[in-house]
Amino acid sequence: MPPTSTRHSPSDGGYMQQILLVEDSNMYGRLAKSRIEKAFDLPVYWCKTLAETEELLARARGNFSMALLDFNLPDAPHGEVIDKVVGEGITTFVFTADWTDEVRNLVWSKKVADYIQKEDPNSLDYLLAAMQQIPVNQHTLVLVVGEDAQFRTTVAELLYVRKFRVVTAQDGKTAQSILDTYREIQLVLVDFAVRDMDGCTLCTRIREKRKRETLAIIGFSTADDGKTGARFIKSGADDVIARGLLAVEEFYCRITRCLETIRLIAQIRQGAITDFLTGLYNRRHFFEAGGELLGRCRREGGNLACVMLDIDFFKKINDTYGHDVGDVVIKGLAKLLRDSAAPGDIVARIGGEEFCLLVPGLSGRELLLRLERLRGDIAATPMAPSAGAAPLHVTVSIGACLETGASLDAMLKTADECLYTAKNSGRNRVVS
Ligand code: GH3
Ligand code: MG
Ligand code: MG
Repeated sequence: MPPTSTRHSPSDGGYMQQILLVEDSNMYGRLAKSRIEKAFDLPVYWCKTLAETEELLARARGNFSMALLDFNLPDAPHGEVIDKVVGEGITTFVFTADWTDEVRNLVWSKKVADYIQKEDPNSLDYLLAAMQQIPVNQHTLVLVVGEDAQFRTTVAELLYVRKFRVVTAQDGKTAQSILDTYREIQLVLVDFAVRDMDGCTLCTRIREKRKRETLAIIGFSTADDGKTGARFIKSGADDVIARGLLAVEEFYCRITRCLETIRLIAQIRQGAITDFLTGLYNRRHFFEAGGELLGRCRREGGNLACVMLDIDFFKKINDTYGHDVGDVVIKGLAKLLRDSAAPGDIVARIGGEEFCLLVPGLSGRELLLRLERLRGDIAATPMAPSAGAAPLHVTVSIGACLETGASLDAMLKTADECLYTAKNSGRNRVVS
């Protein structure tokens, strides 16, 4: 199986290093420098000529991860500075005031990541967004499939410029096995000509396993009859690019948009299953994920514990210190629960100051030991330490049940009854 590969600038271990700005206009330079410094919280080194840039790079070779270059400088009127900086392996963005097709083609031929036009009032916003994508791309794995070596190389080179990680395959079978192995792949670029099947068939196969929500596919059509493009889309591709007309700018726009869509879906999905205040799972997801976990435990014959946990006298905390402090306490407790959970546990906030845990694989004795320790840790941990004031401690009451024969609702009900007993017998205790 082909190894994944990335091309690095000389020392981009941490990637986000210093940023180089080359611009002879004082006004634009000052504006760009302050905007970039604010956005990245990184030092920006500002040169005004090619000569200064060469001198700086000679002194500080390997210190820069990204550069923003003016196409037209007093001592380099035709983008000469671009060659110098790209040659150092620095991810380069270009801006210019005079923008002709000739200049644009020249800029793209120099393997820059993107360009902007100075007069466009939104150009700096666009640029900052594009620069912020680069470190994200470093963690984004793209699969390129096609039997034509020239296709694979051209596309991979374009991806390297934007720091994507790339893996390639010549045939559909290898492509599918790479996708099985590297589950993190978010984008597949498929040529129509794939060694053992056509690109559209490969799309169909991929879609049997990977949905649109986590994987985007772009097909490359060779034929100019328009039919291949439609076939690609009908086979599950998100977009199509005509190979003969491959324009660098369009290529980048399309892959950026496909990846953006996937990230948006992931964000929405994450928002729908988490509790806003604590970041724990919410009540809805607790029942979904909990049902699945219970099913698995039953099939495999393992134990599952359902644990309800409620803060004692929480109303008094709100009344005494205010709702804000109450929120901090809830967040502190959530963090403690998350940190103390084992990898297979489900931790959710199911009500205001009520939490629920599902813990697989423990015996009754192990469960009690663990819950006793948790109860003790919570009582001993200051939850909302405010400056000057005494640290604030809370206790919790815990009800638990261990029975996989019942439904999740029934387990929850039993755990809730135990919690009620814990409350009534003095609080700050575990009942199971
Ligand atoms: P008990 O020991 O019996 O559990 O007493 P309690 O005061 O903790 O229980 P009660 O159910 O009477 O009060 C819970 C309080 O939790 C009432 C509500 O205002 C507060 N609460 C619920 N959600 C939130 C929240 O998101 N933030 C804050 N700060 N308070 C919340
Ligand atoms: Mg309470
Ligand atoms: Mg309560």
